[in-house]
Amino acid sequence: MNCRFCKATLELEFIDLINSPASNSYLSNQQLNEPEIFYPLKVFVCESCFLVQIDEYKRFDSIFDNNYAYFSSFSTSWLEHCKNYVEQMTTLLNLNEQSQVIEIASNDGYLLQYFLPKHIKVLGIEPTKNTAEIAVLKGIPCITEFFGTILAHQLQEKQIKADLLIGNNVLAHVPDIVDFVRGLKIVLQHEGVITMEFPHLLELVTNSQFDTIYHEHFSYLSLYTVGKIFESQGLRIFKVDKLTTHGGSIRIYATHQESKRLTEDSYEEVLKEELKAGMDNRKYYINFNAKVMKIKLDLLNFLVQAKLNGKHVAAYGAAAKGNTLLNYCGVKSDMIDFVVDANPVKQRKFLPASHIPIVGEEEIKNQKPDYVLILPWNLKDEITKQLRYIHDWNGQFVIPIPHLEVI
Ligand SMILES: [Zn+2]
Repeated sequence: MNCRFCKATLELEFIDLINSPASNSYLSNQQLNEPEIFYPLKVFVCESCFLVQIDEYKRFDSIFDNNYAYFSSFSTSWLEHCKNYVEQMTTLLNLNEQSQVIEIASNDGYLLQYFLPKHIKVLGIEPTKNTAEIAVLKGIPCITEFFGTILAHQLQEKQIKADLLIGNNVLAHVPDIVDFVRGLKIVLQHEGVITMEFPHLLELVTNSQFDTIYHEHFSYLSLYTVGKIFESQGLRIFKVDKLTTHGGSIRIYATHQESKRLTEDSYEEVLKEELKAGMDNRKYYINFNAKVMKIKLDLLNFLVQAKLNGKHVAAYGAAAKGNTLLNYCGVKSDMIDFVVDANPVKQRKFLPASHIPIVGEEEIKNQKPDYVLILPWNLKDEITKQLRYIHDWNGQFVIPIPHLEVI
């Protein structure tokens, strides 16, 4: 097995989360009686370029099928983040009616919608039909395809080039990252700018965020490695923002190698931080397994004690993160009564493998659980505020990562 970027042989294991179902394969009542498919979930690190990557390709189209139930517009803090970004970029790049903005993985138009009142031309690229359809209803033209050099050449033939080319939480999700970045180069206007946001591997390791590892997520990225990949395709990162989204992300700004834009200090600063942590050294990656095991044991210990004391535990947030955590820990529906999710598409379904029923928030009010386990810990402030009424019956919140906390 070889590195997806530099082709070196992959030997060093970063973490083995053993067998997991595809994390977004929510089950219907009927499917509970049918067999489920599990896939190995092992992550390696390349000792040459330090790209952290999963080893198994799962059939790509079966993960992103049309039932893929993630809608970006269900998180209010995320929408606020997007709105700010649009304001910032419009000013920074002097975008106007002549400008073309393209977003890869545009989802339901959660971000491009904010360019519309400014009369800036937008184009969404979104392979999942049901989310793209919602964007189209908002007035955002969409191409329902995966992005790569094939689509990039088709856009080039139609003379569509991006002044601003956006990809949020997509770079880590593409199986062929080199082909994807090559495609970016093709559709980028002469002095155009690419911005890509992705969870920062430095944060993942520091805060033991192993639950952000799932099959749809092929790579775990540092600026160090992404810089090398972009460089190999004639692109240059000239600026980096640190963001609080998804437990700590970075936004990179890139342009053509020969662009007039100067490389800013922020790039060197983040790179220095990574090198100081040792991200260009195998030692950095070796101890991750033990840190993750501690989280598993602490959560299981908590759930067992709660059960022995006759307490009821519910969970909040039926997202991929929660599935990775619960399945790695081996938690099933006999330990957690139900999981609440705001997305009506997921309600009345069941989490894969654990078979925990997904319900609306009203079930918390009806059943008054003693504990609510917050699975998307990155949204813990928003969720604890929204559900603060559980304190009325002395309910408490449980946050499993970076270490078990009961509040
Ligand atoms: Zn490599």
